[in-house]
Amino acid sequence: MARAIRTTCAYCGVGCGIRAEVTGERTVRIAGDPEHPANFGKLCSKGTHLGETVGLEGRLLHPMIGKAHAGWDEALDLAAARMRATIAEHGPDSVAFYVSGQLLTEDYYVANKLMKGFIGSANIDTNSRLCMASAVAAHNRAFGEDLVPCTYDDLDEADLILLVGSNTAWCHPVVWQRIEAARAARGTKLVVIDPRRTETAEQADLHVAVAPDGDVALFNALLAEMRDRGLLDTAFLANRCEVPEGFVDGLAARDPGVPHATFAALADLVAAHPRMVTLFSQGANQSRSGTDKGNAIINLHLATGRINRAGAGPFSITGQPNAMGGREVGGLANTLACHLGFSGEERADAAMFWNAPNICAGPGLKAVDLFRAVHDGRVKFLWVMATNPAVSMPDAGFVREALARCETLVVSDVMADTDTARLAHIRLPALAWGEKDGTVTNSERRVSRQRALFPAPGEARADWAILCDFARRMGWGRAFDFAGNAAVFREYAAMTALAVRHGRKLDLTDQASLSDAEFDALEPFIWGGAHPLAKGASHAGGKARLIAVHPAPIAHDPAYPLRLNTGRYRDQWHTMTRTGLSPTLSQHRREPLLEVHPADAAREGLADGGLARVTTAAGESLFRVAISDGQRPGDLFVPMHWTDEMASGGRANRLPLQETDPLSGQPGFKDTPARVEAV
Ligand code: SF4
Repeated sequence: MARAIRTTCAYCGVGCGIRAEVTGERTVRIAGDPEHPANFGKLCSKGTHLGETVGLEGRLLHPMIGKAHAGWDEALDLAAARMRATIAEHGPDSVAFYVSGQLLTEDYYVANKLMKGFIGSANIDTNSRLCMASAVAAHNRAFGEDLVPCTYDDLDEADLILLVGSNTAWCHPVVWQRIEAARAARGTKLVVIDPRRTETAEQADLHVAVAPDGDVALFNALLAEMRDRGLLDTAFLANRCEVPEGFVDGLAARDPGVPHATFAALADLVAAHPRMVTLFSQGANQSRSGTDKGNAIINLHLATGRINRAGAGPFSITGQPNAMGGREVGGLANTLACHLGFSGEERADAAMFWNAPNICAGPGLKAVDLFRAVHDGRVKFLWVMATNPAVSMPDAGFVREALARCETLVVSDVMADTDTARLAHIRLPALAWGEKDGTVTNSERRVSRQRALFPAPGEARADWAILCDFARRMGWGRAFDFAGNAAVFREYAAMTALAVRHGRKLDLTDQASLSDAEFDALEPFIWGGAHPLAKGASHAGGKARLIAVHPAPIAHDPAYPLRLNTGRYRDQWHTMTRTGLSPTLSQHRREPLLEVHPADAAREGLADGGLARVTTAAGESLFRVAISDGQRPGDLFVPMHWTDEMASGGRANRLPLQETDPLSGQPGFKDTPARVEAV
């Protein structure tokens, strides 16, 4: 007899609700949950084919020390002994966690509490650093808190939607369906601002093929244009915003970086449609000026008063299922917990709340710096959870080298044999989607339950439970004696009282007394309401801040005359450890293709379907060529999913450099100087 269970998708930050019908021991029928407000029953190809990925093929089912099976006691005793010895000799900052947006909020909460309150370091960072850290930094600068001021409902009510650096039709397909529905129902205009003519751009009313990293110049020019047309909301600016002296008035109508006619068409659309939502994603965030891009977008919305009301606002859409939960509990190295910073008072409050003996002194290492520290031996103990940095980090060859040098590498994962797991001294089997149980927060701040469909296979355990067991071995058992995932959630919800006390809007305190049964039955809810900044920003004084941002100079290196952009394919996810299991999903694109403009292909002697070598200062990789006039001349594109082991070449993340946005620490995956040659 089939069992129906409501849960959420394993993949992107849209956070779609799923009705899963468990039909056998490891089989499930997947359908969209018609009652879930993120998707109202719709799913994309990745979500629809989740049932093809729940088998046990390739799973890590037992703790392993080296290549040998070990018991949980033996593996965790060894990990704890190694961490204790490392801290005793080198201090708490010689150990680190590198975690993932695949973790549930309860896993994240326990990992963060353990590292920042008990181990005494803030060296916990997450693969979300590669996804949306620039949006977080932009929110913090503008609003005083990491707040997305919109929800998906605003897409239904906007008259104009700007998509910046987002191939939404492929990467957030259910949001795309919602945009398409709004266009059909009410004639919503759509502009795509993206260097590539993607599948999304092809369907827009206007495609603005901005140069890589040209967004700040474009949005500054738009702001100047709205000022010159008399369309700034002067009352909103005066009463609700702090504006850097002379910034708006001083903006000259500089070169927007796109043809005059394109800019004029864009400006006309923006001027005519005050109900405007700007969705921005990795194309904006994954940049050495990603934070400035976010603020350039937010500036335009603040200056025109297009925020805090239906159908208007800047809206960061993010990558992973737990798009926001990790940010909320403190999974980034530059946040303490629950939107708190590292001031003396905030640290003291967190220490008291946790009864923590070793509250960290300040921010920890962000992802790129963290792997540099592993490489040069400053971090000697690293625990990687639910992610595969040997493939996904920029300059992945360097990261692989760093992992191989690490004195103690612990990996908790679902799969036995990822590129990262292969280098681990200790491997710990974690629960996969379909076995995990807890909460996630999607891109619109909606908290939903992810529920277990199957019992834990082998000796696999929940990440939060593994961490609690580890903490007990470190001597901190009482603070990690959670009776279950509901108890972890209650403690997190209660801790948001500290956020409120410090003037933040993250407030889940009304969830802090849920019973276990109520937690189990928890319906999706949005914290902060539809427009959480409507009553003021979280800065002292309650005003939002425009930030003076200026285009970063683009360096030209004659040795690398082209610009390499990396991104996603429609039917693959991250490093393919899950979607690679689905035969159906693998049919969409069977191998990674190098997209090249015809003029560049002709100059370099590349043939469509032939092989080419892409070289950057970080490394080189081979790809099959796809000549495409959807590329700007001078720009290359490759997908990010493949590893050496899956194809002869095609490993994209060997190529991007370790250069990051100075504020957010997010790597610039989108504009790596490169050259290409036929092979
Ligand atoms: Fe899953 Fe995202 Fe697709 Fe929804 S849009 S089904 S959350 S991958």
